[in-house]
Amino acid sequence: CEIGGVFGSSSSSSYSIHFHVKLVEQELWQREEKGLIGILPVRDAAEMTSMDSVLSQGVGSESGERSSKVQISTSDAHKVDGKSHPEVIHWHKRGVAARALHLSRGVEKPSGRVTYIVVLEGLCRFNVEELSTRGPYCTAKISSLEMTKAEMEQVEQDPDFVTLSRQFKATAMELISVLEQKQKTGGRIKVLLETLPLHKLADIFVASFEMSLEEQLSMLDSVDPKVRLSKATELVDRHLQSIRVAEKITQKVEGQLSKSQKEFLLRQQMRAIKEELGDNDDDEDDLAALERKMQNRLDCDHYGLSKVKQRIIEYLAVRKLKPDARGPVLCFVGPPGVGKTSLASSIAAALGRKFVRISLGGVKDEADIRGHRRTYIGSMPGRLIDGLKRVAVCNPVMLLDEIDKTGSDVRGDPASALLEVLDPEQNKSFNDHYLNVPYDLSKVIFVATANRVQPIPPPLLDRMEVIELPGYTAEEKQRIAMQHLIPRVLDQHGLNSEYLQIPEAMVKLVIQRYTREAGVRNLERNLAALARAAAVRVAEQEQAVSVSKDVHKLASPLLDNRLAEGAEMEMEVLPMGVNNNEISTAFKISSRLVVDEAMLEKILGFFFSRHFRHKLSMYDVVRRLEFDDQEAADRVATPGVSVGLVWTNFGGEVQFVEATAMIGNGELHLTGQLGDVIKESAKIALTWVRARAADLKLAPAEEKNVLQGRDIHIHFPAGAVPKDGPSAGVTLVTALVSLFSQKCVRADTAMTGEMTLRGLVLPVGGIKDKILAAHRHGIKRVILPERNLKDLVEVPASVLSNLEILLAKRMEDVLEQAFDGGSPWRQHSKL
Ligand code: ADP
Repeated sequence: CEIGGVFGSSSSSSYSIHFHVKLVEQELWQREEKGLIGILPVRDAAEMTSMDSVLSQGVGSESGERSSKVQISTSDAHKVDGKSHPEVIHWHKRGVAARALHLSRGVEKPSGRVTYIVVLEGLCRFNVEELSTRGPYCTAKISSLEMTKAEMEQVEQDPDFVTLSRQFKATAMELISVLEQKQKTGGRIKVLLETLPLHKLADIFVASFEMSLEEQLSMLDSVDPKVRLSKATELVDRHLQSIRVAEKITQKVEGQLSKSQKEFLLRQQMRAIKEELGDNDDDEDDLAALERKMQNRLDCDHYGLSKVKQRIIEYLAVRKLKPDARGPVLCFVGPPGVGKTSLASSIAAALGRKFVRISLGGVKDEADIRGHRRTYIGSMPGRLIDGLKRVAVCNPVMLLDEIDKTGSDVRGDPASALLEVLDPEQNKSFNDHYLNVPYDLSKVIFVATANRVQPIPPPLLDRMEVIELPGYTAEEKQRIAMQHLIPRVLDQHGLNSEYLQIPEAMVKLVIQRYTREAGVRNLERNLAALARAAAVRVAEQEQAVSVSKDVHKLASPLLDNRLAEGAEMEMEVLPMGVNNNEISTAFKISSRLVVDEAMLEKILGFFFSRHFRHKLSMYDVVRRLEFDDQEAADRVATPGVSVGLVWTNFGGEVQFVEATAMIGNGELHLTGQLGDVIKESAKIALTWVRARAADLKLAPAEEKNVLQGRDIHIHFPAGAVPKDGPSAGVTLVTALVSLFSQKCVRADTAMTGEMTLRGLVLPVGGIKDKILAAHRHGIKRVILPERNLKDLVEVPASVLSNLEILLAKRMEDVLEQAFDGGSPWRQHSKL
């Protein structure tokens, strides 16, 4: 059959249906006898969601008939006119035939815009056979999808249909009783339930719910009454559940609502919704979001450090949830340049608090912490109060830098004053002598840094949670450089990657040859030097373009500045003897500057291989900046030198031990700023070697005393750096055995370990740092005390895979591994 030839399209936004105005005027307004119109959902390319169906209308209609309010407007954007919308309009294949129940026309606006209000009654579903978009509005050939009476009677016999009807009715009744309680309007709907055929009722019920367009369409497409009933039951049931949940939420929220803050209300609702969804651990959810947030903030400043970051996040999460939490103070311990200070400032950023750094290095006077009494001339508050004054807030993140470097003397003990600061019970009323009134420090978040744990007084350490940041591996440094340092350095110098490119291979060279540190500070400094050089070139080019004069003349002052700044401000050594012209010609490449090896050497200093080292003068050697892997080989080339691994303030280090003998009367001389413990280690080492001299075949059989007529001198190079600790024990013995046997120690092997008088090798600390240092120095084999095996789990696998780790239980095991072809006495015995 052909339906009235009239079509409208429905669109979503406000549950109104948009018609071409001509359709309304010609077919409805001007005609006495109103025809039927068809309503089809549309989907056009630009507006895939812009569909609606008449089913969503007719909410609570009094007659119970499906009816629909239709708004028509002359300047509507959703015209169905194919010409004004040349892009494809996807008409849904099925629609609803409707009759206009009521029609009214609004006053014509000056713009000529007329508004009609049409109330429609939906009659039956239809299928579009053929659609024509020509003419003032769309027309279509359709076929009805309504069942005949006989067909319907047959369906009603179907037992499935009967069950479905029952189910639907029960669910619908339940919904009505719930609504009745709420709105007291159920009566009329109940009557409907009894009188209307159920499959029609299904449409009416469902039309009153909010649901997705897909669901609406699927309902429209459900021609089979069984399918329709089952879908409707599901939707009614869902609506019922959502009403119940909403009620529960309201009850909960009302119960807990003390003040009507909007944010609070929303939070409670969200919580209740989550609870209802079975998402009970919403706290954890909050935490997860918080965690993600904080992780992003930490991640954008620092590469890696996953364990450290995890601990910081836990700490921050607790602080966020309970701002007055009394947790321990975090203390970052590690060598310089590993990111301790910057992590602390990231914490401040993550918490949105101000950051203040207080340096405690070298503080010996208690007044530095507590302030002077005002009776003193030139008295002033202590550093803490002064720091607070600087940031002018009472709740900053305060970094107590270098807490291991405080000392004590006659002027008191700053550590004991710090104890009061860090104790949450006491710092509520911190007493600064200058202020002379108790000051509440409990809102301040303290974070401390230290290079080493040992010097921190135990009571102070007791109040802190130590988080260790060991040094980075070469690979980690490489990634830190690529991801963080280079972008930062370029930015600081007003450059970007268009001006300067530092390829990964060059970064690797800088790491290998120019920096041998646990952290990345020198690396950053070297990268900055490259950036400055590029900045000079960019500035030169700009000037050259703007004045078009002799570039050389302009360039020189700039370069001079660069050299002066480089030499004095950054305290780095620049190659001498390279003339400015040479540098400037090297940079005068017109396109972007790509750092290559030649440029590295010009800016950072020569790297020279062994092959042409002999060509260099002493002067060149002095200004040598780089490190090379041959260092160990050169230094152990004579007997009496061994390679140790030690732990210093700068992380792990390779430490050479030199021993020599001279005519004398059996004395031991020790040099190299040694502490008591290391001196004792040297004595133990000598005693052990003397006691085992015969076994080790170190002295001719007839004179068993290796010290007969000679003195021994042991020196630890880098003579200005203080050294202490027992871990040089095995290294000392090895150096002595090498000296007495006149056999060189293997250059690729480094060692660490304490030795007892009886030759047992005891475990030592700082294994990870020491192994990283060995790796940095190109060492291939590391001898460790057997009981340090457990510490190897902390060492990155990439480092371990490049090293041979040898475990020693006794001193003999160490000697066995330290010399080529085994211990020297074995070699003797073979002879
Ligand atoms: P510390 O306080 O340990 O001596 P800093 O926090 O001053 O070290 O760090 C030195 C420099 O190295 C800073 O510029 C810092 O941003 C950078 N840095 C250190 N570790 C990392 C890392 N993991 N990722 C990115 N940058 C880092």
